Amino acid sequence: MILLLVYFPTLYKDELLYSSIARYHVVSGNKTQRQTIEDLFGNRSVCATADLPSHLMCLSNNLNGQYTADQIIKNHTLLPYYTCFMKQNKIHQVQSLMEDGNKQGEVHASLGLLASSIKLPVKLRFCSECFKSDSEICEPYWHRCHQLPGVFICPLHRSILKISRVEYSTLHHKFSFVPLAMHGESDYTEPDIDANWLDHLAFIAVQSNLLLQSQSKSKEKTASYRMVLPKERYQTIGGRVRFNRLIQDFRNIYTDKLLEYLDCGIDSNSTDTWLHKIIRNQEEIMHPLRHLLILGFFEISVGSFFVTPHNHPFGNGPWPCLNKVADHYNQSIVEKCAITRCSTTSKPVGTFQCSCGFVYSRRGPDTCDEDRNRIGRIKAFGPVWHDKLRCLNKTNTSLRQKAKILGVDPGTVKLQTEYLDTNKAVLNQVRSQSQAIRSRKINKKGCSLTKVNRKVDWDQRDEILYIAVVKAVEQMKQLPYPQRISLASIARHTDSGNLKHKLMKNLNKLPKTNEFVKTHVDSTETYQIRRLTWAASELNETEGKVLGWRLLKLAGLNHPLKKMVKDKFMELVE
Ligand SMILES: [Zn+2]
Ligand SMILES: [Zn+2]
Repeated sequence: MILLLVYFPTLYKDELLYSSIARYHVVSGNKTQRQTIEDLFGNRSVCATADLPSHLMCLSNNLNGQYTADQIIKNHTLLPYYTCFMKQNKIHQVQSLMEDGNKQGEVHASLGLLASSIKLPVKLRFCSECFKSDSEICEPYWHRCHQLPGVFICPLHRSILKISRVEYSTLHHKFSFVPLAMHGESDYTEPDIDANWLDHLAFIAVQSNLLLQSQSKSKEKTASYRMVLPKERYQTIGGRVRFNRLIQDFRNIYTDKLLEYLDCGIDSNSTDTWLHKIIRNQEEIMHPLRHLLILGFFEISVGSFFVTPHNHPFGNGPWPCLNKVADHYNQSIVEKCAITRCSTTSKPVGTFQCSCGFVYSRRGPDTCDEDRNRIGRIKAFGPVWHDKLRCLNKTNTSLRQKAKILGVDPGTVKLQTEYLDTNKAVLNQVRSQSQAIRSRKINKKGCSLTKVNRKVDWDQRDEILYIAVVKAVEQMKQLPYPQRISLASIARHTDSGNLKHKLMKNLNKLPKTNEFVKTHVDSTETYQIRRLTWAASELNETEGKVLGWRLLKLAGLNHPLKKMVKDKFMELVE
């Protein structure tokens, strides 16, 4: 037996193991396939498949070290194609099944190929151009790269592959070892290919071949399409995928006919298609053909796809408060990062809002850890920072020194001082009115006890406070997340504790301000409704629909809801 195996042929580049066994079978003069299988594997009952053969350790031993099992698997089977998007432990598992033998179909089952709706080719295929050029150099042989699912074009010649009459595996009971040279090039059928599909099919063929040739054994990479999506129009910068738009464009590009031809059709009414699963990274094994369809859609080649994935443009929260005068400076306590897109560069902009009132933003994405401590713009300073500025302004500290303490440039110190002064002016106006009235009272008291004019100029005070309150509410509504609007939060946003006092105590004497506050302050219910409305518009934009449980979760609510809130909820849920 060993003597016979001395003649085992040298494998050609990209030749299927099956092809070399077929050539051996002819040379050996064996009358039956079983004899050949016994020669090579030492076991008659080994079933042979062209794509993913097993018992390769036995074969390698019988070949006396001519090829190791690993060499055969890597260079002469289709396994490298299937493992490119798989985790390392899974690759080991499949590889050992191929090395050590297995029950029929076990390798295919462990790769999910038996359950997959993508069918394996039934017959071996070949390219006429390859046939010709191989004949000139050596002899025609079965190429690996022509046998991959979804490959209908030769990646080398771009010609449509011819379908032979040779079965792909013993599963079909007609399996036989036929060398391509013996099969000849005239006995074939041609697949029914639409001319419009050629570009897509050429991409699939070339990329499939790249997967097949990829020699790296360790592919511990978490292929994530999220890193591809932000560049496009299919994902909000916050990370939610606009599936409706994605699926629509995807089907437009490929056409339903081609997708069905490739067993990759998409049901537009389903929210759980293979496209959803692959983007959500849900399934452990997804057929490489489907990965290639997505890469093709984004015009990304296999080689450039496997780079470091970048999920959130600003990393994981919580993020540090960068208010230099806060006692929690640099501590990671900011829970929320609202993300918008820069209108000129379309890069993500994160806005970080701390409970101390300090709000900063920066353009992303972050590329290193140091970026977490970078402020692009300060959007609000908040009372803690302003109090510190007030204190510093009462001392002899130099402008430069103040800027250093406050963590800003001198220009900002000047501007914010001006801002405080304007606010102070408003306050002083209010105060001087009160004083005027008080002094009038005293004067009158001094000369006459009969009648005291107690009338404060509430109208004028109302005007001043009204402007401050409207401004504060406007500011609050611009915050990235809905914040509860209350008398206290309005007062806080006017950046002055004294205004708060005036507001709270005398609201009933300030009709215009009072009216405005009354219509804008949130009750528990209205605040819940504002959150629901905000969440619904987020979901609509990102997912194309509003599911009840998603809405509640995003709005931070639980059942049971108050009637008014429930009504709104029912109205928002489709
Ligand atoms: Zn070819
Ligand atoms: Zn803070």
